[in-house]
Amino acid sequence: MKTLKFLAAFTTLAIVSSAFAQQQYPTRNINMMVPFAAGGPTDTVARVVAQAMSKPLGQTVIVENRPSAGGILAPEQVKNAKPDGYTILIHHIGMATTPALYRQLRFNPLTDFEYIGLINEVPMTIVAKPTMPAKDFREFLDYIKKNKDKVSYANAGIGAASHLCGMLFMSAIETDFLTVPYKGTGPAMNDLLGGQVDFMCDQTTSTTSQIKSGKVKVYGVTSTKRVASLPDVPTLQEQGLKGAEVAIWHGLYAPKGTPKPVVDKLVGALQEALKDQGVRQRFNDLGAETYPPERATPAALQQHLKAEMDKWGPLIKKAGVYAD
Ligand code: ASP
Repeated sequence: MKTLKFLAAFTTLAIVSSAFAQQQYPTRNINMMVPFAAGGPTDTVARVVAQAMSKPLGQTVIVENRPSAGGILAPEQVKNAKPDGYTILIHHIGMATTPALYRQLRFNPLTDFEYIGLINEVPMTIVAKPTMPAKDFREFLDYIKKNKDKVSYANAGIGAASHLCGMLFMSAIETDFLTVPYKGTGPAMNDLLGGQVDFMCDQTTSTTSQIKSGKVKVYGVTSTKRVASLPDVPTLQEQGLKGAEVAIWHGLYAPKGTPKPVVDKLVGALQEALKDQGVRQRFNDLGAETYPPERATPAALQQHLKAEMDKWGPLIKKAGVYAD
């Protein structure tokens, strides 16, 4: 009897203290896991958002890079983290495309996470090493087709945005190239600048400054309209290439089972961050479009993720690309 009473009291105490902890949340730093290397475009978005979310949360959101080719390890690590709101994940379109690309993926984007919200959408750019001789897109196509046995394409592994864009581009121009995978396009950009690889497709959040300072050659953007921050760069469509249109979106996730009051606080902080004029301006300068706060919600992210899985899954399966 005594033991039962003790157990009941203990359970009540545990429930009360966990409710109290949820109310007090956050009382320490929060880790935001990034699936790719530091210095790349996902990392850039993460750092802007993490800093802006720290203000409303009253605690520092620390960006932690957990890079792997294809970005497949960080989601698994976040899935297995304690669901207490102190570990969250930022990821891009790869959350929707990796399930179709990997036979042995160890996380399920539809069942292993609590959704926080959508962040922004970013176009991609076809960029090449500074010594690429082609003056425009036509010459570039001629050059890479003529030299297809020598030319190499850098990406961040199967499942990366740069992989998806490369796949669409190669299929649209009906030519395949040797692809060199990195753990993020930050390191890939370093090799592109050094001329070790010839070209890649990467988000404007990373390429804008290199394009503006003339450090890389640029041959087109993957959006259907030109990007305001790069007004002189034509779209691929404008230059006659169809089928390589792609926009990279980012979302924020927590491990499944993170309590609702905690998720609600994270949603509120993300919405505050996206309302911040400094954040909107920074994204704008990098060619990214910030989603309105109404889309920084669990429902909007869940819906978008599902729609993107339905869109890309069949296309990827048709292309027959698989990583084992
Ligand atoms: N841009 C990379 C990608 O291709 C990821 C990164 O390094 O942020 O997915």
